[in-house]
Amino acid sequence: MAKIHELSDVLADQIAAGEVVERPASVVKELVENAIDAHSTQIDILVEEAGLKSIEIVDNGDGIATEDVPLAFERHATSKITTREDLFKVRSLGFRGEALPSIASVADVVLETSTGDETGTQIHIKGGQVVDHSLAAVRKGTDISVKDLFFNTPARLKYMKSPQTELANISDIVNRLALSYPEIAFTLSHEGRELIRTSGRGDLLQVIAGIYGVQNARKMVQFKGENVDFEISGYTSLPEFTRASRQYISVLINGRYVKNFQVTKAIIEGYGSKLMVGRYPVAVLNIKMDPLLVDVNVHPAKQEVRISQEPQLQELITKVIYKELAKENLIPSAVKNL
Ligand code: ADP
Ligand code: MG
Repeated sequence: MAKIHELSDVLADQIAAGEVVERPASVVKELVENAIDAHSTQIDILVEEAGLKSIEIVDNGDGIATEDVPLAFERHATSKITTREDLFKVRSLGFRGEALPSIASVADVVLETSTGDETGTQIHIKGGQVVDHSLAAVRKGTDISVKDLFFNTPARLKYMKSPQTELANISDIVNRLALSYPEIAFTLSHEGRELIRTSGRGDLLQVIAGIYGVQNARKMVQFKGENVDFEISGYTSLPEFTRASRQYISVLINGRYVKNFQVTKAIIEGYGSKLMVGRYPVAVLNIKMDPLLVDVNVHPAKQEVRISQEPQLQELITKVIYKELAKENLIPSAVKNL
């Protein structure tokens, strides 16, 4: 007797959700990245009970056309890449077409969206099943609300850390996205209390001041450099302003926040012997490079990347930072307009 059968779509989505949606912060990450890919200039994130009760993301981006709305919740459905070649030069943050179906399979989701040129759409999906789908008058952009995350996956719910930890993870993600996009105005509120606000005026140092405080932003120095393959720029802290973890080093490749141990290490090495044992700088490093030289398709959450010519990149980073910090009478960057 045959024993093999295909999994239902909802079950397959829930399994994929296990990888893409680990915790409330991963939902925030995926949804904010969608808003960024949709060219939003204002993104508001509203959270309740550290995201487990509710996460709402409101953007003023392109919106989704009425006929595309059901597709957006299908697995492997995306507007961002089409061909195999596209995969090797992705510029958008998303491309796997997994986030919306995964999230909708483990939560109660309401999406309202409009492209601005036609009547908008509202769709309500709970645990992967469409509850309601109708035309609705909505302003241009997208408003997505995710309630009761993991209501149907009790094992996952049990594995959540304390509300403080989950909220700290959300703040951390929003901080990094805000640092990556100084030209987008972000707000993050938890139960009505505003935790993060950036102006969207496009100045990275202002975003740093908004996140780490004006006093600390005054202790950051600017750097810049390039070689044949890479252009690097950003801010890094004076040796007197350090933290006890590497977590405050943010690395962005072509606007995407990434994790790469070697690159982080290259920044630290730029300090030579200026750092005390166990202390790490605060830094934001922007790397611009040919998308063909970076493979972002290593991990479902798309944070780890492989870079070709990595040793050359490391050398450039260490050299530029070392040179900047070696300048006599180091003058920190001015924090303007605060
Ligand atoms: P991906 O981002 O990998 O394409 P998602 O499941 O996150 O996959 O989203 C599916 C599709 O839904 C996207 O390709 C995009 O066309 C659309 N979409 C999702 N969120 C938004 C948004 N906030 N604004 C406009 N379009 C969106
Ligand atoms: Mg996405």
